[in-house]
Amino acid sequence: MNTYKIALLDGDGIGPEIMAEAAKILKLVAQRNRVNFELENGAFGATAYFSHGNSFPDETKALCDSADAILKGPIGLSHEESKRIPVDMQPERGALLPLRRRYDTFANFRPVYLPKDIAHFSPLKAEVIGDGIDFVIIRELVGGLYFGKKEIGVTKGGKRFVTESLEYDEDQIARIARVAFETAQKRKGVLHNIHKSNVLKSSVLWNEVMEEVGRDFPEVEIKNILVDAAATYLCLNPAQFDVMVMENMFGDILSDQGGGILGSLGLMPSACMGPDKAYYEPSHGSAPDIAGQQIANPYSMIGSVAMMMEMSFGMESEARNIWQAMKSVFAQGFSTPDLSRPDSEVKMIGTNGFGDLVAEELSKL
Ligand code: NAD
Repeated sequence: MNTYKIALLDGDGIGPEIMAEAAKILKLVAQRNRVNFELENGAFGATAYFSHGNSFPDETKALCDSADAILKGPIGLSHEESKRIPVDMQPERGALLPLRRRYDTFANFRPVYLPKDIAHFSPLKAEVIGDGIDFVIIRELVGGLYFGKKEIGVTKGGKRFVTESLEYDEDQIARIARVAFETAQKRKGVLHNIHKSNVLKSSVLWNEVMEEVGRDFPEVEIKNILVDAAATYLCLNPAQFDVMVMENMFGDILSDQGGGILGSLGLMPSACMGPDKAYYEPSHGSAPDIAGQQIANPYSMIGSVAMMMEMSFGMESEARNIWQAMKSVFAQGFSTPDLSRPDSEVKMIGTNGFGDLVAEELSKL
């Protein structure tokens, strides 16, 4: 029997609530597939800062180092609450970016998926959605503005200033380009390259390298779109997209827009792949506005489990079963509160209810 160790980092806000549902599905998957998942929890994020004085404690680093894969919940506090933590220890700077850097998780896959039979969750009109929304955003995750040099100071004239640089070298661009072309090759053979080369020199180099790598993939058509235009097309005609590739910050922003056109960020799982290790997380944050109420949508967390099954453990058919089970729950008229209004026709369920129904549906497959 295969044994895999999985580090579970609950995180903050709704993290523990949605992680509990993901753990439920992991245990069921283990039973059904005769694999052994050793699930071990680690402190991470603001919660870890308050309990350990560090938002990415050494114990958690050791746990992640020894794990076969990492499942991470969202981290972060509300704008006001975050002032309780020194700027450099705040969850993204103190935990999330160091996690990404530690395992060099440069390739972030963010599927934006809403099949036709549950397309009513989208705020877009049926004629815009057509046969459903189904594309994947591939975001470079360890370069660009978020990891560039930073300088904070005071000018000679006594004014505070800040400089942050958007840095990429050609190797960093080439490796994410390769991942994007390979993904496009396996899907519909079309790759949308998102850039801002009319203003940013970084995008000029980005596009050059995309084109160079593209020569190894003659069967993939590359379409170049400015990031601002891409934001518009995501609302007006998302069906034109199949695989989109972009640098770190563009991906951060456009993938949240992806959640918006689906109807909720709660529908956005993701996989963050490095050369030797991967971690999986919802694309959204810790949703402090709804934390502790059992109303968060755990789809993003359970979907991240499905991605882990496929991408870390080669369990493709079980991954498909998990997606199918989640879709069946929605197709039966159930909804979590983020996706529907209370006065609509749906059968409203909470975090735990959704996890239970997914487990029930999965057991039937
Ligand atoms: P957010 O993504 O937490 O929430 C935005 C909106 O989406 C909120 O209305 C929230 O209720 C809703 N939402 C998000 N996930 C949901 C779910 N699963 N079910 C139902 N509704 C859901 O963004 P924010 O409020 O701007 O940020 C909150 C905190 O999260 C901040 O501290 C931010 O820095 C952090 N953050 C962390 C990550 C991460 O861990 N990777 C990503 C983004 C933001």
